[in-house]
Amino acid sequence: MEHKDIDWSNLDFSYRKTNKRYVADYKDGAWNEGALVEDDTITMSECAGVLQYAQTVFEGLKAYTTEDGRIVTFRPDLNAERLEASAKRLEMPVFPKDRFIKAVDEVVGANREFVPPYGSGATLYIRPYMFGISPVIGVSPARDYQFRVFSTPVGPYFKGGAKPITIKVSDFDRAAPHGTGNIKAGLNYAMSLHAIVTAHNEGYDENMYLDPGTRTKVEETGGANFLFVTKDNKIVTPKSDSILPSITRRSLVYVAKEYLGLEVEERPVYLSEVGDFVECGLCGTAAVISPVGKIVDHGRDICMASGMDDMGPVTKELYNTLTGIQMGRIDAPEGWIHEIKN
Ligand SMILES: *Cc1c(COP(=O)(O)O)cnc(C)c1O
Repeated sequence: MEHKDIDWSNLDFSYRKTNKRYVADYKDGAWNEGALVEDDTITMSECAGVLQYAQTVFEGLKAYTTEDGRIVTFRPDLNAERLEASAKRLEMPVFPKDRFIKAVDEVVGANREFVPPYGSGATLYIRPYMFGISPVIGVSPARDYQFRVFSTPVGPYFKGGAKPITIKVSDFDRAAPHGTGNIKAGLNYAMSLHAIVTAHNEGYDENMYLDPGTRTKVEETGGANFLFVTKDNKIVTPKSDSILPSITRRSLVYVAKEYLGLEVEERPVYLSEVGDFVECGLCGTAAVISPVGKIVDHGRDICMASGMDDMGPVTKELYNTLTGIQMGRIDAPEGWIHEIKN
């Protein structure tokens, strides 16, 4: 397959239309067969549930080329399961897991020329999502839904090296106790927009959100989970019911234990103990791990021992091992790498 004439290393994270996308409709209580389509626009009622009451959930994963030239996705079964949990929480129908995986395969297969070559650092970002499409004016779940998958090529997350970032402890919350923080819903992001614009205006790269109940414990950023490293090389990651269960974080925890022989603690993490850690990273599909050098808590600087120039050594080893597994340079656990054969 010929590649598109794209300067892969200079792509940013923005939408670019590719050849085909997948659409399935839920009507009269059942999903139709679904199909790949060319049209990248959606026509719907002005009163659609998604437009009035934000009934929408989504996923994010990527397709990329391995060292031996296969086109693969990483653990798409977990994205299917997480979308199912998200849909149930917003009273939406479940899109079956086998069909989710097949739809993603079809979209990647139809857009092969947009899958960046091995070594470019770029990937084909895949966005599955579902939303209420039928009219809703009295507050209730929609009757009809649409499930879609589109893809767009995105550039390497770390252009010119993984520079540690500075984040602030936010005065806003991204979730409510017993709310929707643990599902991938668009509404969580709508809520975080003012907080992130504020943080950027103040010169910070990201927000650290605290637990909305007591505001004493670390939760996550707007779109990535935290991993910390202790002085004696233990991995610590916050455990909370209002954190989104990152697939990258769960994979890194496995890699830490099974590949690197590190001890891992998943437990509540207090803001007051963050200064005891020596490394801090943010985990998500886009960056895998992005290093945090400094956390600012209302004028108090909490500086990681790993500093502002480079990833810390443990973060780096986690990063190298997981990206090695993803790219086929290191043997993957059973079922982690899903080859696109169509
Ligand atoms: C998607 C997301 C993450 C990262 O999850 P991955 O599965 O690793 O990409 C973390 N936090 C939030 C709030 C998210 O929406």
